[in-house]
Amino acid sequence: MKYQRSSSLFAEAQKVIPGGVNSPVRAFKAVGGTPIFVEEAKGAYIYDVDGNKLIDYINSWGPMILGHAHEPVVNAVIEKAQKGTSFGMPTEIETEIAALAVAMVPNIEKIRFVNSGTEACMSAVRLARGYTGKDKIIKFAGCYHGHSDSFLIQAGSGAVTFGTPNSPGVTVGTAKDTLLANFNDLKNVEEVISANKNEIACIILEPVAGNMGCIPPTEGFLEGLRKLCDDNKILLIFDEVMTGFRLAAGGVQELFNVKADIVTFGKVIGGGLPVGAFAAKAETMDYLAPIGPVYQAGTLSGNPLAMAAGLAMLKELDENREIFNSINKKTEYLHKGLDEALTSENVKYTINRIGSMISIHFSEEPVFDFTSAAAANNENFKIFFHGMLDEGVYIAPSAFETWFICDALSYEDLDTTIAACKKVAKTLK
Ligand code: PMP
Repeated sequence: MKYQRSSSLFAEAQKVIPGGVNSPVRAFKAVGGTPIFVEEAKGAYIYDVDGNKLIDYINSWGPMILGHAHEPVVNAVIEKAQKGTSFGMPTEIETEIAALAVAMVPNIEKIRFVNSGTEACMSAVRLARGYTGKDKIIKFAGCYHGHSDSFLIQAGSGAVTFGTPNSPGVTVGTAKDTLLANFNDLKNVEEVISANKNEIACIILEPVAGNMGCIPPTEGFLEGLRKLCDDNKILLIFDEVMTGFRLAAGGVQELFNVKADIVTFGKVIGGGLPVGAFAAKAETMDYLAPIGPVYQAGTLSGNPLAMAAGLAMLKELDENREIFNSINKKTEYLHKGLDEALTSENVKYTINRIGSMISIHFSEEPVFDFTSAAAANNENFKIFFHGMLDEGVYIAPSAFETWFICDALSYEDLDTTIAACKKVAKTLK
């Protein structure tokens, strides 16, 4: 693979954009080397500016569940764009996508659209605080909920890759209202609650964590959180920005049959355009302005192009539920192949998978929380990442991320990936 043009574009970008990127993980800082500049993408493939073709396992960090430039989505956007790109006035399509989302996801009656996962989580927490009249929140070490101040306390994803889990710029006052707990550790959550009796508005979590690699909840964890919330009048917020409309049509609530009080969405719900959303029962959502006291707004929220892309995507997932089985089966096949490839070369690794989310940690020990994820061998991850890239396989440039499988991947692509893994496994330490 050659990256000459990417290198020169990166040099130009660094002159006018901090670090040359508009979101930190794109910069390859965790793995070294030059980030790849994309020319175009179609289906399961990225075509870069140097003419390389890559099998894509990031899929824009989740949204492209049906592959890149998926025709119904692209056509919906083109059609809408011709009628105007933003009005700041209500449009019918907002109600259409809201009704569909509410029908697909259990336990929600109303949904509000925003422009990113960050906004969705930030607004959900404000709503929880307004609704309960309490200030503190519990979040889990290694969970990422976007870059809003309250969440940059031991966050996963780029915030941990770059070694600044407590970012400068987050005030002490804000940080003191974010209480930390360990993922998959109910006892620890119980301790935090009893040390802050009647002060906690909500517990927010990725019910399947995807920002410290993929870490599913251990048995009883979600149910235990539900009970703790009920017993202590705390709202349970599921951040389903990654998992929503991916692990099942109704997300983790459906998959694990556990009710959340507020759910946040992003990624798939926007079909690749900037969309986030948060949803709950009507009684909770009606706390929002203009009918309720909790303020939340957005000039471009419910943008027609974004809604058209999201609606086209959700419609397809709703009408063809077989897609979820299909991507799950592909991921299972990949899992098995990667297992064989890594085992045959005696590599120490742990693969976590649930549905179409999968990740490799180079650690022999089970990976079930932030500490066990951080204990993995990052040197091996770097070698693995670059080795796979040289073979034409693009995985996330950090071990604290998840691979997202899209339905455009063929079994041939999966076999190519497994063969690449077998080759690269020989170079690992
Ligand atoms: N929550 C989760 C679980 C996420 O994975 C992300 C982004 N990766 C966010 C929130 C923030 O979303 P956005 O980047 O769209 O602001």
